[in-house]
Amino acid sequence: MKAAVIEKPGEIAVKEIPVPAITDHEVLIEVKASGICGTDIHIFRGEYLGTYPVIPGHEFSGVVTAVGARVTRFKAGDHVAVEPNISCDNCAACLSNRQNFCEKWNGVGVTLPGGMAQFVAVPEKAAFDIGTLPFRAGAFVEPLSCVLHGVQRTGFSLADKVLILGAGPIGILLLKTILLEGASAITSVDKNEARLELARVSGAASVASSFEGLPEDGFDVVVDATGVPAVMEKTLGFVRSGGRILLFGVPPRTSKVAFDAFTVFRKGLTILSSYTSVRNSIQAVRLLASGKIDVSSLVSHEVPLSGFRRGIELIEQGKEGALKVLIRPELDEGKPARRNHG
Ligand SMILES: [Zn+2]
Ligand SMILES: [Zn+2]
Repeated sequence: MKAAVIEKPGEIAVKEIPVPAITDHEVLIEVKASGICGTDIHIFRGEYLGTYPVIPGHEFSGVVTAVGARVTRFKAGDHVAVEPNISCDNCAACLSNRQNFCEKWNGVGVTLPGGMAQFVAVPEKAAFDIGTLPFRAGAFVEPLSCVLHGVQRTGFSLADKVLILGAGPIGILLLKTILLEGASAITSVDKNEARLELARVSGAASVASSFEGLPEDGFDVVVDATGVPAVMEKTLGFVRSGGRILLFGVPPRTSKVAFDAFTVFRKGLTILSSYTSVRNSIQAVRLLASGKIDVSSLVSHEVPLSGFRRGIELIEQGKEGALKVLIRPELDEGKPARRNHG
């Protein structure tokens, strides 16, 4: 099979390697759509938790082609999405329902072979039936799971006024999810006009391309979806006293954020972060399958495995209206990806 392999930071190539063998508890998946995420870019750069060489890709969907002898929930032909965080289910963290902090954690596409390949083997417990959901939407089960975890941690209230900084794919998923939580008005901020337009059609009550004119102390909850330290620092000024701040974007590894400690005290703020997800995959599948969360406007490009590097460039430079870039291994075979079937 073909796979995009990061040999070491900064080096990626499409290689011909054996189709993975499966154990009794695993399923083999033919990958149909695999989203490039900021984390993949960090792994490519050597800025994350990856071990090398590694096949990246942790946001993907596909078709089950083989199942291990002890697998009970799947058969060949089933359409699935994958929860890439593999917990041991037997450490203190896992047994306290904090699987995202598993002491023996492994990540598909991080420490284990991922979805930037024609086939990938994952434990049965990591696969979720997506039924007739299009594969390109199935590739959003993982990022949406992370968003759901962050939104649930924050605890939104009916009629909250919310500020979201960043209107990339994650900022838009946050926007759509927080609207479902009953927010009365969401303001989206981004430098990119096309992204602001997407925020508007996705339900933002107002949008802004800069911080100028945003009301001081004007929001019940402020969410950072950029991970840019200078932007994260702005959250304090816009949240009301007693309000909440969710720092959702992934900042650079050694970055520092300077907060006015007295302001945090005086405003009685709750500042939260959110790390991956905990058992949110079924929720994510349901929200996508029901149409409550529609991600069709978030896919900007579909490229073959060999397009990984180009995909990174598109995302980083915000070129050609880049939002979510999907890798579709079928395109490497010269087959057009079947658009109507996801
Ligand atoms: Zn991701
Ligand atoms: Zn564990």
